[in-house]
Amino acid sequence: MTDARPTPTTVWNEMRRGNARFVAGEPRHPRQDVERRHELESAQKPRAVLFGCSDSRLAAEIIFDKGLGDLFVVRNAGQVVSDSAIASIEYAVAVLDVSLIIVLAHDQCGAVRAAIDSTALDAPELPPHIWRLIAKIVPAVKRVLRTDPDATPESVDAEAVGAEHLRGTVDELLASSRLIADAVAEGRLAIVGANYRLGEGTAVPQVSVGIDA
Ligand SMILES: [Zn+2]
Repeated sequence: MTDARPTPTTVWNEMRRGNARFVAGEPRHPRQDVERRHELESAQKPRAVLFGCSDSRLAAEIIFDKGLGDLFVVRNAGQVVSDSAIASIEYAVAVLDVSLIIVLAHDQCGAVRAAIDSTALDAPELPPHIWRLIAKIVPAVKRVLRTDPDATPESVDAEAVGAEHLRGTVDELLASSRLIADAVAEGRLAIVGANYRLGEGTAVPQVSVGIDA
């Protein structure tokens, strides 16, 4: 099995091709039949980790035109790094030997919007669990606000905050997980941070580590 281990570039190209089919409205819906289900019964060998926002419009296998057993998917609102997210990703890297992590953000993210709104002086209090998640996006809001002294929570560019949060998320994965950082340093693993455009359906790479995406 290890002989056939795909490189991060091979896997990223597969993901790009699948996304292109979805964008063009020509998906193949591969590996979604009974035969594939039976083939996978005793073991999985996913090609990539997808760590993305929970937004219902980011359905992972659909937008990359993949099938059963292809993607190891970890999602939460705003694709916020957490212990459970890191542990899940580490499992995919260390045990399942996945060679690519795609961190997937998107346009008009509600979690990013909530983080921006939370920085307004008159912001209403959020329920505690939601606040703890949103609070992880607030540093990206503040970094973007600092770049423009005239910007306010009302006027700040939400897409710029989303892009900053995406960069921060990739950095935090590397800083928080020795296992992930070592795998990248050894060339066994790459990370692509991409932004999904809701209207076009394209996953546009914005940050990459260990690969030219
Ligand atoms: Zn979102």
